[in-house]
Amino acid sequence: MTNQAFKDTDICTTQAFEKIDNSKGKIFRTKFEYKDPKKKGKVRTMLARTNVRKNLKGKGSFDPKEYGLRRVYDMALARKNKDENCYRHINSNIEYLKIRGTEHNVFKCSTLVNYFYGETENIKCPMCNTKIK
Ligand SMILES: [Zn+2]
Repeated sequence: MTNQAFKDTDICTTQAFEKIDNSKGKIFRTKFEYKDPKKKGKVRTMLARTNVRKNLKGKGSFDPKEYGLRRVYDMALARKNKDENCYRHINSNIEYLKIRGTEHNVFKCSTLVNYFYGETENIKCPMCNTKIK
């Protein structure tokens, strides 16, 4: 793999979550691998949006962001379940995001650091600048 394997539209997990956070309710498509060990290797495709408040109950003190998750409204479930129980979480295994007409391949910050810098210390993600090690 060379640097040319990356496209201008390629982004890291942090940037993908920023795009979702700033999507202002626009519908987007995403893919991410399940974290549930029973579904290991399985990829979930989702048509989703943020900024939906309908039937959102029992929010409590759980802040998805603290767990590296994003709570979204699953559009396919909304159609099927008539807007009941349609909130799902996108996890940090996000690997694809189509938003505002642009397709992005998403790479984990730590993967990018390893790829570009190897096993050096005190390195920031080349895409979002978050310190990884
Ligand atoms: Zn990053």
